[in-house]
Amino acid sequence: MRAVEENVFAEPAVLPAPGAEQYPSLALANSTIALPGGHYIDQLGTPAGANQWLTERGLAPVEAGMREMCATQLRSLREQIRALFASRVAALPALPAALDAVNDALTRVPTAPLLQWDDRTGPYRAAPHPTSQIVDHALAALAADAADLLTSPDAERLTACGSAPCNRYLLRHGRRHWCSTRCGDRARAARAYARRARPEEN
Ligand SMILES: [Zn+2]
Repeated sequence: MRAVEENVFAEPAVLPAPGAEQYPSLALANSTIALPGGHYIDQLGTPAGANQWLTERGLAPVEAGMREMCATQLRSLREQIRALFASRVAALPALPAALDAVNDALTRVPTAPLLQWDDRTGPYRAAPHPTSQIVDHALAALAADAADLLTSPDAERLTACGSAPCNRYLLRHGRRHWCSTRCGDRARAARAYARRARPEEN
C-alpha cells in the first residue's frame, strides 16, 4: 500500500510541464505521457478521465455525462494540436488536416459572449452554455488557446522535451529543455552512460 502511494508521488512526469498551467492546450498536448519501457499514461483514456481533466481546468462540470464519443473528440483534437506544435518547433509547414481540425473546433460554437436581449432589462452579453454543447465549448476553448499560444511571443519558447522517450511539450526557460527534473536527470544519466560505453569516441 505504502509503495503504491510513494510511486504515485515519485512520478514527476505527471506534474505539469512548464507552461502547461498557463496554456490548457499545452496541457492537452501533454495529456498522454510516454514512460520509459514503452508504457503510456493517457489522462483522456476513459470518459471519466476526460471529464476529470476538463473539470480540473474549469472546462466542464464535475458530472458532465461524458461519453466515449466525447473523449474520442478530445483525443483527436490533442493529436492535431500536437501536430501543430511539432510543426512550430521544427519550423515546418503545418499539416492542412491539423489546421482544419483546430479551426473547425474554433468555429463550431461561439467562443465570444453573444449579444442577448432580455424583454424587460434589455441587451446584455452572455456565453450560451447548453449542456449538450459542453464538449464543443471545451474543444473550442482548447483550440482557441492553441491558436493564442502559436501566435504569441511564447511560441518562440515552445519546445519538445529533449529526454527520450518523453513526448511532452513545454515552454523553455533559459537553456533548460526538459519538462521535469526527472527527464533532466534521465537525459544526463543517458549521456554519462554513453560516455562510459564509448570512451574511444571522446
Ligand atoms: Zn520530459
